Amino acid sequence: MSRIAYVNGSYRNMRDACVNVEDRGYQFSDGVYEVCEIRDGRLVDMPRHMTRLQRSLSELRIAMPMPLQSLSVVMHEVVRRNRVTYGIVYLQITRGVARRDHGFPTKPVSPSVVVTARSLSSSKNEATAAAGIRVVTMPDNRWPRVDIKSVSLLPNVLAKQAAREQGAYEAWYVDGDGCVTEGASSNAWIVTTDGRAVTRPTNGGILAGITRSVLFDVLAELQIKLEERPFTPAEAKAAAEAFVTSASQIVMPVVAIDDATIGNGAPGPVSRRLREQFHRFSVFS
Ligand code: PMP
Repeated sequence: MSRIAYVNGSYRNMRDACVNVEDRGYQFSDGVYEVCEIRDGRLVDMPRHMTRLQRSLSELRIAMPMPLQSLSVVMHEVVRRNRVTYGIVYLQITRGVARRDHGFPTKPVSPSVVVTARSLSSSKNEATAAAGIRVVTMPDNRWPRVDIKSVSLLPNVLAKQAAREQGAYEAWYVDGDGCVTEGASSNAWIVTTDGRAVTRPTNGGILAGITRSVLFDVLAELQIKLEERPFTPAEAKAAAEAFVTSASQIVMPVVAIDDATIGNGAPGPVSRRLREQFHRFSVFS
């Protein structure tokens, strides 16, 4: 079955799904995106993703290309046309097409909208989660506005590749104060030896992950104490557990950081429980 993408008003076969070479997303990474998990053919936590999308767009002064309700219809339709029951849907909105010039186009242009969806292997993800992943730390070399979910991901691309070349699954960025900010494509967490879940606050250095925010509800319900504060790689290496969160991985246990083994080297009970319970707290649409 050929994959279908939505591009600026029409549903096309992937091989015919094209954007203009002067799209500002292509030339300047002048755009934003969202990734939502798909489970049982339904979109997970769309309201929170749409709220973050609106914020990212407004920070870049890009207009909402269509009403939220219509965007939601398009995203569901792309999921349906690709027959994805488990996977992700990707939405990208850029400032639009204009003759190449760094400043915003002087004449109004319509934002470009692209939506794609793809299946993931649930069994493969579960196997990865059962084994746990290794992360490697590296200096955070990104711009200060990582709170905007922009398609400008070059440092993240290089960090992920560096992690892979070191046999790791994810990179954890470390800021100038020696604290972990987040992963190249996930938020970073530890569980202290007395059972508190720790993650960095959203007042700088990280993207406000949707999975992270839903997990706050899970923690409250399970009466696990939450501490929003920075932590160092040294604290993380001595922690009882560590994990990362993202829409495509939910709660993914970390069993090694650099060359340090976390806990006994297997996913810990808190991480496993949070992963199991997570979708009880999600909104499906
Ligand atoms: N931080 C970064 C840098 C990311 O790319 C992502 C994934 N998009 C996250 C955190 C996690 O966000 P979410 O839970 O919304 O997927």
